[in-house]
Amino acid sequence: MTNQQRTIARVVEYSGIGLFTGEEVKLCFRPATENMGIYFVRNDIAGRPKISANTETVSDCERQISLQKNGVGIKSVEHVMAALAGLGIDNIEIEMNGKEIPAGDGSSLLFTRLLKGAGIIHQKEQKKNFYLQCKLEVTNGDASIVALPYDKGLSLSYILDFNGSFLNRQCFEIEMTEKNFMSQIAPARTFGLSTSVEEFKRLGLGKGVTDDNTFVLHEDGTVKKPLSMTPATLRFPNECVRHKILDIIGDLYLTNLVLHARIIATKSGHNLNARMAKKIIEISKNQTNN
Ligand SMILES: [Zn+2]
Repeated sequence: MTNQQRTIARVVEYSGIGLFTGEEVKLCFRPATENMGIYFVRNDIAGRPKISANTETVSDCERQISLQKNGVGIKSVEHVMAALAGLGIDNIEIEMNGKEIPAGDGSSLLFTRLLKGAGIIHQKEQKKNFYLQCKLEVTNGDASIVALPYDKGLSLSYILDFNGSFLNRQCFEIEMTEKNFMSQIAPARTFGLSTSVEEFKRLGLGKGVTDDNTFVLHEDGTVKKPLSMTPATLRFPNECVRHKILDIIGDLYLTNLVLHARIIATKSGHNLNARMAKKIIEISKNQTNN
């Protein structure tokens, strides 16, 4: 992989429904110049406010990642961020006419196909590489993420464990390359637990859930579509753990860095992922200053 920054060659669009809001939103991906980074533009709000995707704009990490600047927010950015990380895109404008990124099929596949279809071009400036030099750790109860020095690139491991219910323990490990991301991670879809469905309804969440953008794990080990409750077909036997890695890839890309590190995550979610991204940014600033 070259070390030059990348953007897309032409404008591409997509419309779809947000998983939490159920609202239809139109996205328009546009090329952006060097060092502009990844940023969203809300064209439905006066002044077309811009919200950059980085650790400073993260405002909510419950079940998804929201960004906010000057009171203007964007919801559910993680799967599009993962697609951008997987394709090595550094600079892009994502214009949208609503608050939530559409869910697509619940994975990053739609975004990777769309962006690859736009053509990806190299720019003059160099990417920002970061070689982790020390061990970092974030924990929350029995969930944790450890980051270790690793010079060969980004290696990710995840241990998914519901303590004997829902699924047997799933472990997956992958070296982050575009090819590995596209074939092994991007197609892995969002999932929910049957025990969370009622809580979701009570909280008024998941208005955009359809049989085509998520699946539900039941405690007896069955996997079903969320509305029709008919059996769901998995894309990989261990699709759940792969999706957890997809989320980490998207969340860590909020650092806007090409990470050279080994990430070992156990039962982590967006909250912990975002905390690790912030920790990496703090360390990277110190390293640059030294
Ligand atoms: Zn996800």
